Amino acid sequence: MPAPILRLALPSPLRRLFDYRAPPGMPTAALQPGMRLRVPFGRREVVGVLVEVSGHSEVPADKLKAALELLDPRPPLPASLLRLCRWTAHYYQHSLGDTFGWALPALLRQGEPAERRQERWWQLAEGARPDDPRLARAPRQREALQALAQHPRGVPQAVLGKLQLNKASLDLLQAKGLLRSEVREHAPRERHGGWLLQAELPLNDEQREAVEAVRAGLGGFNAFLLAGVTGSGKTEVYLQLIRQVLESGRQALVLIPEINLGPQTLERFTRRFNARIALLHSGVGDRERLDAWLAARDGEADIVIGTRSALFTPLKHPGLIIVDEEHDASYKQQEGLRYHARDLAVVRARQEEIPILLGSATPSLESLHNAHTGRYALLQLRQRAGHARPPRFLRLDVKSRPLDAGISPPLQQAIGRTLAAGQQVLVFLNRRGFAPTLLCHDCGWIAQCPRCDARMTLHQRQRELRCHHCGHAERQPTACPQCARVDLRPVGAGTERTEERLATLFPDYPVLRIDRDSTARKDALPRLLAIIRRGEPCLLVGTQMLAKGHHFPRVTLVAILDADGGLFSADFRASERMAQLIVQVAGRAGRAEEPGTVILQTHLADHPLLVQLAEQGYLAFAAQALEERRAAGLPPFAHLALLRAEAHRPGQAEGFLEQAGDEAQHLLDALPLSGIEVLGPVPAPMERRAGRHRAQLLLQATSRAPLHRLLGPWLAALERLPGARTVRWSLDVDPIDL
Ligand code: ADP
Ligand code: ZN
Ligand code: ZN
Repeated sequence: MPAPILRLALPSPLRRLFDYRAPPGMPTAALQPGMRLRVPFGRREVVGVLVEVSGHSEVPADKLKAALELLDPRPPLPASLLRLCRWTAHYYQHSLGDTFGWALPALLRQGEPAERRQERWWQLAEGARPDDPRLARAPRQREALQALAQHPRGVPQAVLGKLQLNKASLDLLQAKGLLRSEVREHAPRERHGGWLLQAELPLNDEQREAVEAVRAGLGGFNAFLLAGVTGSGKTEVYLQLIRQVLESGRQALVLIPEINLGPQTLERFTRRFNARIALLHSGVGDRERLDAWLAARDGEADIVIGTRSALFTPLKHPGLIIVDEEHDASYKQQEGLRYHARDLAVVRARQEEIPILLGSATPSLESLHNAHTGRYALLQLRQRAGHARPPRFLRLDVKSRPLDAGISPPLQQAIGRTLAAGQQVLVFLNRRGFAPTLLCHDCGWIAQCPRCDARMTLHQRQRELRCHHCGHAERQPTACPQCARVDLRPVGAGTERTEERLATLFPDYPVLRIDRDSTARKDALPRLLAIIRRGEPCLLVGTQMLAKGHHFPRVTLVAILDADGGLFSADFRASERMAQLIVQVAGRAGRAEEPGTVILQTHLADHPLLVQLAEQGYLAFAAQALEERRAAGLPPFAHLALLRAEAHRPGQAEGFLEQAGDEAQHLLDALPLSGIEVLGPVPAPMERRAGRHRAQLLLQATSRAPLHRLLGPWLAALERLPGARTVRWSLDVDPIDL
C-alpha cells in the first residue's frame, strides 16, 4: 500500500493544497482534518492545516517532502469552523490557507498549543512577609509582595499586568526566597448563580413581538432583520434574547462594528449578565485573543462579543448570532480576504442551524431586499423606547448664503439658542483636518499629493499637509512652490477649522472635537465622552466617529454641515451611505426627555431622496432607492465581482485587465453561461494612488450561480496570464466600493 499523502492548506496566496508525506514514524490513523503540522515550504518552515488524507499525489514521490511535526493531538478547529472556512475560501475565490490566516488567532497560526493552557502562578513563599527587613530599601518589591499577599491562592501570570506587578520585581523576590512560582493546569472558569444581575426592562409591544418571534425560532436556522429606529430599544431586544439562549445552555455570538467598541456596548452586557464574556477586537492582544477563542470553543465563554473577524470564533454550543448595525461598512474586509462578516454570519447560522438577528436603524438595501423577498423575517420597532420622541428634520437651503467655516448664519443662531437653553449641540462634518485644499491666491497652485490623484489636506495645528489616501505628509509651505509668493489660502472646512471657528463664535462654551486625529491617544475618547456625559452645555464637532452607537442624552441639536456629498458621487451606493449616516447622526439627538432637532445644510433642498428621508424616514427612502437600483439593474438586483489591478507603469494594469476580460469572454462562450456582462476595464476612481496606476474590470450578473461558475475557471486562467506576476491584482466578490 502506498504511503498516504497529507494535503495541507498553507499560508500562501496560491489557491491550491500542498502535498506532504506524514512525519517519519507517524501512524496515519492519528491524523484528522483540522490538525496543524509544521512543514518545510521553500526555504522556510510554516504551519499548515490538514485538509484531507489522500491515496495519491500528482507530485512525483521523490519530490514529496515529509512534514516535520504534528502540532495537535486533536483538531484545534472544530469541524463546523473548518467547514465555514472552506465555504468562505470557495465563495471569495481565496486561498484556503490564507483564509485560515484571517480566521485564526495569530498564535495558532504560529503553532502555539491549542489545548488546555498551562499557566504560571505566583504565590508568597511559606512565612514570607511584606515587612521583611531585606525589602526596607526596595519599595517596589515591598509593594509587589503586599499586593500578592492579598491573594493567598496565588495569581496567574496573565493577571500580573492588571495588578501592576512587574516581572523584574517578582524575579528578585523569588531569588530572595520570598516568592515562589509554579506551573498549574488551566482551570476552567466556572460560573455560579442565576444569569441576571439586573432586572430586565418591561418591553413595549413591538419589542415583545420581536423577542417572541426570534424566541420561537431558536433551535433552527431562521434569519431576522430587526429594523428599529435609533433609540427604539434594539439592544434591550438583544439582551432579553441572549438571556433565553443562556438559559437553554447555549452561547451567543454578537458582532459589532469596529468603531462601536467604546466601552458602552460591553458595559451594557456586563451590567446585565452574570456570564463569562469573551471580547475580541483589534485592541485585544494576541495572548488574550487566543484565550478568548479557546474559551469560546470549549464552552467556557457564554457570550462572545467582537468585531468582523470574531465571526470565525468557534462555539461549543452555538445558540444565536446577532449582528448589530448590520449596514455598517466595517463588516466588509477591504484587503486580502475580502469577506463580508454579515453575509458570512448568515451562512454560518444556516450551517450551524441556529437563528441570526441582523439589527439596524438603517438596514442595508441588501438586507431590506432579502426581507421583501421573504428570505428574512422583518421585525420593526417604529417608536423610540421610553419617553424619547423622534427628532425633527429641517432642510436648510444654503444656496448663495455665506458659509463661515462651513456654518451658515441661520445655523449659527440655532446653535446659540440651544446653548443658551443649557443644552448640547453636535456638529457633524465628515472631513478631518483644517481644510481639504491649500490654494495659492496668486497663481492658482493647489497642494497635490505627489503619489496620488488627490489633494492634500491641511492640518494646521501640526503645520502639515497630509494625504488621506496614502499617508504621505510634508511640512506646510510658507510660500507657493510655483510662484514663490506667500498668499496661500486654505479652502473649505474640515473639523479642525470648524472647531476653531465655533470656539471664537461661542467663547463661553467648551468645544470638543471628536475625530481620528483628536482621539489617536488611547485615553482621549473616554475622556471626551466623560465631559459630554456631565451634561453641561457644550459643542461637539466630529466625523462619523460621532455617528455610531453613542448615547448623548443632552444633545438636542444636530447640525449636518454638508448633506450633499452622497448625491453627486459616481458610486451607486453613495446615496444609501449618506442617508444612513444622516439618520445615524440624527439619532444622537434628543434621546432623553427633550425633543431633538436636526438641521441639514444643503444646496439641494428639493432633491427627492433628501425630501423623502427628511419627511418620511429611512425606510421610505430605502424603498425609493431600491426601485432605482431595480430599474438600473444594480445590486441587490444584480451580482458583482470586481477585478482590481495596479502597477507602477501607466497602462500596465489596463493591459492585464484587457486580457482578463478576453479570458472571461472565452469562458462565457465555452461553458456556456449567460446573463453575465464584462464591463471595462476602466481607470479606478482615483487612477493613481500611492504611486501606482490603478484600473478595474467589473463582472455584472443577473443571478449569482452562473457568476460563481465562471469565477473558479476564470481565476485559474488569470493566474496563468503573463501579467499575473508583474501586476498586483485581486478579486473582490460582492464589492462595496466601486
Ligand atoms: P437602540 O439600540 O435601538 O438604539 P437602546 O437599546 O440603546 O436603543 O435603547 C435606547 C434607550 O431606551 C436606552 O436608554 C434603553 O435603556 C431604553 N429602553 C429600551 N427599551 C426600553 C423599554 N422597554 N422601556 C423603557 N426604556 C427602554
Ligand atoms: Zn502661487
Ligand atoms: Zn497620497
